[in-house]
Amino acid sequence: MSFASIPKSEDILRAIHHVVGQSDRGHTIGLHEPDFSGTQAWAYVKDCLDTGWVSTAGIWVSRFEKELCTVTGAKHAIAVSNGTVALRLALHVIGVKPGDEVVLPPLSFVATANAIAHLGAVPHFVDVENSSLGLSPTALNAQLEKVTERKDGVLLNRETGRRIVAILPVHVFGFPAQIIELRKVADAWQLPLVEDAAEALGSWREDIHCGLFGAVGTLSFNGNKLITTGGGGALLTNNDEIAKNARHLSTTAKQQHPWSFHHDAVGWNDRMPNLNAALGVAQIEDLNRRLKIKQKLAKEYIQAFSKLDGIEVLPEPPGCKSNYWMVTLRFTTPDPGAANAQRLRLLEKAHETGLLLRPIWSSLNELPMYTSCPAGPLLVAEDQAPRLINIPSSPQLHNEWGRT
Ligand SMILES: *Cc1c(COP(=O)(O)O)cnc(C)c1O
Repeated sequence: MSFASIPKSEDILRAIHHVVGQSDRGHTIGLHEPDFSGTQAWAYVKDCLDTGWVSTAGIWVSRFEKELCTVTGAKHAIAVSNGTVALRLALHVIGVKPGDEVVLPPLSFVATANAIAHLGAVPHFVDVENSSLGLSPTALNAQLEKVTERKDGVLLNRETGRRIVAILPVHVFGFPAQIIELRKVADAWQLPLVEDAAEALGSWREDIHCGLFGAVGTLSFNGNKLITTGGGGALLTNNDEIAKNARHLSTTAKQQHPWSFHHDAVGWNDRMPNLNAALGVAQIEDLNRRLKIKQKLAKEYIQAFSKLDGIEVLPEPPGCKSNYWMVTLRFTTPDPGAANAQRLRLLEKAHETGLLLRPIWSSLNELPMYTSCPAGPLLVAEDQAPRLINIPSSPQLHNEWGRT
């Protein structure tokens, strides 16, 4: 391969503009922006204000949870105040204790590692595979074989002496990770699977929604996600016991009683307020339409980039339906250094013209608070991270959105 296989920034920007048009003078085109037009958001929020039910109880919270169950097929959904809290609560409920290790991939938003650290536990990084950018089942199995031993039924990391207690895969940018294969590995090692599906509402592997392959999964409704409640998150699970405990601990572990305050554990105040849930209901009613439009937007990008050498739009992994939360470009030149240099040039040019492209996150194992964490070889992550860049993905950018 030669230098010629690296596409020019101008050609890449032309392909993007071909799909999304030009940004208006003085306006920028962001990666993923909230939009409540054409929804019942005003009416539902007004109901909260009119009734005074603005806080952590109310009809919109239960309605939002019910809608989440309907669209994902989950038996239980528990709405909480954000996606980080959802992860921390999920890990706590499945039994992660201070000093335990939890396996996760290095390519994720910082919240995935933070949720582990918030419990006093330790992130243990294992490599990704390049079709989904998610945790690699092969690397996972190899790392567990290499570093663990079982003592009195407990799986220990021989190198650190700590227990390894859970596997935490991430569905990056809405692409389902190789989750069936990961579950097989997790089952073989008798480790529970907790899925970070923060970015994957509306993403499926075969006929199972992301977040429902293991013990429990989590969603986020932050402002940049597919639907937003301002700030918010949820746990999804088919397990009655996990659901019951998570709900209990998220509401200060208060025992149900008409007047007395009795709490039977150290709980948290994690519940989603009714005001936020009202926004969630308004948008989840529009979810299928949004998903269809995002599919079309992604297909148009794929088409527009098919003529350029040296770059590709990440396709849905086989057997999967992606919500295409982010449309992701990958430089395919063999040299990651050259890809990174080209990516920098592209970022600079794009920002000049009002297109807010973003590179993938810094690998979590390279952040100062996580550099000394245990890790397996991270060769694929190191090769892939410099190649990846996200482009504007809001459904409003497609002409079928039809609302202003
Ligand atoms: C957004 C996100 C979270 C955290 O969600 P917040 O609601 O922002 O706390 C966790 N993991 C991933 C992969 C995310 O993208």
